[in-house]
Amino acid sequence: MTRSGTRLALRADLLDFTADPGWSAPDAAPGVRWRPDHWLLIEDGKILGAEPASAFTPGADWLTEDHRGRLLMPGFIDTHVHSPQLDVIASFGTELLDWLNTYTFPAELRHADPVVAGQGAETFLDALLSHGTTTAVVFPTVHRTSADALLSGAHRRGMCLIAGKVLMDRHAPDGLRDEVPGAERDSRDLIHQWHGTGRLSYAMTVRFAPTSTPEQLAMAGRLMAEVPGLYMQTHVAENRAEVAWVAELYPEARSYLDVYHRAGLLNERAVLAHGIWLDDADRQLLADTGAQIAHSPSSNLFLGSGLCAWPELEAAGARVTLASDVGGGTSLSMLRTLADAYKVQAMRGVKLTAWKALHGATLGAAQALGLDHDIGSLDAGRSADLALWDWAHGPVAQHRDARAQKLHERVFAWMTLGDERNLVATWIAGHAMHRRPASDTLNV
Ligand SMILES: [Zn+2]
Repeated sequence: MTRSGTRLALRADLLDFTADPGWSAPDAAPGVRWRPDHWLLIEDGKILGAEPASAFTPGADWLTEDHRGRLLMPGFIDTHVHSPQLDVIASFGTELLDWLNTYTFPAELRHADPVVAGQGAETFLDALLSHGTTTAVVFPTVHRTSADALLSGAHRRGMCLIAGKVLMDRHAPDGLRDEVPGAERDSRDLIHQWHGTGRLSYAMTVRFAPTSTPEQLAMAGRLMAEVPGLYMQTHVAENRAEVAWVAELYPEARSYLDVYHRAGLLNERAVLAHGIWLDDADRQLLADTGAQIAHSPSSNLFLGSGLCAWPELEAAGARVTLASDVGGGTSLSMLRTLADAYKVQAMRGVKLTAWKALHGATLGAAQALGLDHDIGSLDAGRSADLALWDWAHGPVAQHRDARAQKLHERVFAWMTLGDERNLVATWIAGHAMHRRPASDTLNV
C-alpha cells in the first residue's frame, strides 16, 4: 500500500440502513444492513468499506480499535433541538405557550451576552456528541452572537450542522425581539460567513408564526428564493391553543401550515417541528413541497401537546424525521427519543419497529435533509460520523439482552432501555470527539 492517509479500522457489529424499512413487521422489513463482527475501514475521515473480521486482518498501516461485541452505527441525526434550552430542560407544569413565557424566553434572554452564548454553545455541542448525535438542526436564540457561537463551535468540531439566527419580531419580551431590517442584515452576514463553510448549512429560522410579522416571514421567503441551498426551520401545529392563536393572527391563511407556504418558506429543505394538528390538505401540501416534519415525541408527551400521525403523514407522501426538541423534550438521547416515539405510536394503535425508528434517525433523516451523500449510513464515501454503543448498560438491560433470541428483539430492547450511558465513543469524520471516561477500558 502506498497511500499515505490516516487509516483507522474499527471492529464491531455494524448496523445501518440501505432503504426505508417502512411499517413492515420486524422480520419482513427491507433495508436493514446487519454485519456482525466486521472491520469498518476509514481513510482520511471517510468510510472506505467493511470487511468481515473472520476473513480480514488490518495490516500495520492501520490504526485499529477492537470493539468486538459492541454496536457501531452512523451517528444520530436530531432534526430539531434548541441549544439554549439545556437551561430549562425538565421544567414543571406548563403547556407550550405558558412554557415559552415562564421558562424559555427568560432563559434565552441570557444568551444576548456573548460569554453566556459562547459557553452555552460549547456545552450544547459537547452534549450532542456525548449522546451519540453527530448532526443536528438547531435553534440558538434571536441574538446573532448565539448563532455565531453555535456555528463556529460546530465548525471547529468538524460537524455537519444546520442552524441560523432565530427570527422573532413580535409577541416576545424586550431583548428577544429583532426587527426586519436588522434581522435581514444579521441573517445575510451569518449566511455569508457560515453557509457552505466546512460542513455547515444555514437555516432561515422562524421561531413560529405567532412571533413573526408577515413582513418578517416575507423577508425570510425572499432570502430562501435568493440564496441556493438555504434550509428553513420552524414549528407548526404543536398545540391546540397555538393553532387557534395562529388562526387569529393570520385569518387569510387556510391553515397554520399555509402561513408558511404563502410566505414562500416550504420546500424540500424546510424542517417543521411537530406537525400534530394537521389536516389532509396540510399533509398534501407537505408532500407537494417536500417539506418534512421533525417528529418530537418526548416533547409532545412532556408538554401534553398530542400524538403525531406519523404513518398518515407518510401515506400522504410527506417525510418524517426524529427530533429530541430539547428543552420541550426531556433528553438529548435519540435512543430515548425513539423509545418515546414507539410509545406515542402505541397510543395510536401503531407498532413502530426499531428498524423504522432507527432509520428515521439516520439514513431517513440524511435523505430528508439532502445530506445522504455525506451522512446517515456506513456506505463507502460517507464521512465517518459514528457512534459506538454497548448493547446493554446495567443489570436489567444486561439481563434482557442476554435473553434476546432474534436480532430485532435485541435491537428493540437496546433502543428501549438504552441511553447515553450505553455510548462508548463518538467520531466526527474519523476523529474521536467523545470517549466514555476511562473507568471503561478501550482495547486500543
Ligand atoms: Zn422546538
